[in-house]
Amino acid sequence: NITLENITKKYESTTVIEGLNLQIKDGSFTVLVGPSGCGKSTTLRMIAGLEEVNEGKIMIGDEDITDVAPGERGIAMVFQNYALYPTMTVRENIEFGLINNKVEKKERTKIIGEICDIVGLTGYLERKPSKLSGGQRQRVALARAMVKRPRVFLMDEPLSNLDAKLRNQMRTELIQLHKKLGTTFVYVTHDQVEAMSMGDKIVVMDGGVIQQAESPATLYNEPDNIFTAQFIGAPP
Ligand code: ATP
Ligand code: MG
Repeated sequence: NITLENITKKYESTTVIEGLNLQIKDGSFTVLVGPSGCGKSTTLRMIAGLEEVNEGKIMIGDEDITDVAPGERGIAMVFQNYALYPTMTVRENIEFGLINNKVEKKERTKIIGEICDIVGLTGYLERKPSKLSGGQRQRVALARAMVKRPRVFLMDEPLSNLDAKLRNQMRTELIQLHKKLGTTFVYVTHDQVEAMSMGDKIVVMDGGVIQQAESPATLYNEPDNIFTAQFIGAPP
């Protein structure tokens, strides 16, 4: 499990996250949801190690990772803009992390084949990202994160660049991918419908604090406060 203990985060002198406590269960599909500016991306970036915490600690199991470098946390992050290398082919984009990890050529080819099969990229390996659709780029970003076999996937609004139809399709694919991999997913969105349809645990944030963290059914049927009820659209 990932545990965030009493996390406070400031940018300069402005506190944007205050006394945040959260437990993310192993294998869960946890969704952070809330209005723009409430601190979702900041929270995700602190888990990834891309942003320092001012107070509190972050644990994975019994291991305190608060000061562990991003690349050594066993955590992969998929960004909203995918951050693919434009001059590299799909294969090279995915292979990059494996070469860095000194995986041999034969093994690399095998891993890439398996992962492209899972995310549906077979046949696109020799193309450049500019020749792919939005959904295909999204899949490359996922594949690139997957080759490192992370224990946790962090995704920050990964579908926001896609049109409504493709977004729906990718939601379903991500739910299936989560089932197949069994890895912990932590997913950020400001869209409550997306949150409720994808997550098994929904963390409702507002103004740098957690309003409620529950299963979709509990959140809907037993909202703790008016903010949660209104945000989720549940009867008050
Ligand atoms: P959105 O849905 O718009 O992406 P968010 O919930 O992801 O919003 P964050 O990006 O975590 O929100 O931002 C939380 C608060 O911290 C906001 O008030 C934002 O203006 C502020 N903030 C974020 N990054 C920085 C930064 N690098 N420097 C200063 N303030 C920042
Ligand atoms: Mg954000």
